[in-house]
Amino acid sequence: MKWETVIPAQTGTSFKLDKKDRLKVIDLEGGQVADLLAFNSGDYRESLSTAATIDCNGSIHIRPGDHLYSNRYNPLLLLAEDTAGAHDLLHPPCSPAMFRAQYGIDREHPSCYHNFLQVLRKYGLDESSIGPPFNIFMNTNLSEAGRVEVKEPLSGPGDYIVLEAQKDLLVAVTACSVEESACNAYKCTSIGLEIC
Ligand SMILES: [Zn+2]
Repeated sequence: MKWETVIPAQTGTSFKLDKKDRLKVIDLEGGQVADLLAFNSGDYRESLSTAATIDCNGSIHIRPGDHLYSNRYNPLLLLAEDTAGAHDLLHPPCSPAMFRAQYGIDREHPSCYHNFLQVLRKYGLDESSIGPPFNIFMNTNLSEAGRVEVKEPLSGPGDYIVLEAQKDLLVAVTACSVEESACNAYKCTSIGLEIC
């Protein structure tokens, strides 16, 4: 193993991946979502696009063997392993605006948006770089009528995914900050990361 860390509840981190590195994202306690953004190390203007990923895979779901694609329709990450089985490509990161609109919370609240901004600033990135993330372990159900419902994650303690880098990448991951809904099973906990 090259590197490992734990992202404490309601915080985030950023790091570089070399092409072919394997990133393991672990739901340590279960029921916790991790948001992920990825950028081409050589040109940060190329970044993860959930819309292009849905377009290329022809599905709002992602399964082992599928890729996460960039805004230039290049594969950035391969989903190599998955013990959880449900992830989200539809939702934006939680943010002060979201907490205000959805929950009427005006006080300061930790958020994935703020955490992404904090850990990406040192690479010269700003608000304009924070698009919709890959929401690992987030369990979004879609009804036939198109109704979107976020349910508790399917992941239990120790469930994980492995993503293999298809390019040299800058990656940011957060342990999602929403404790008000089923998204994180009403409790924010930590996320484990390993690079091999
Ligand atoms: Zn979040």
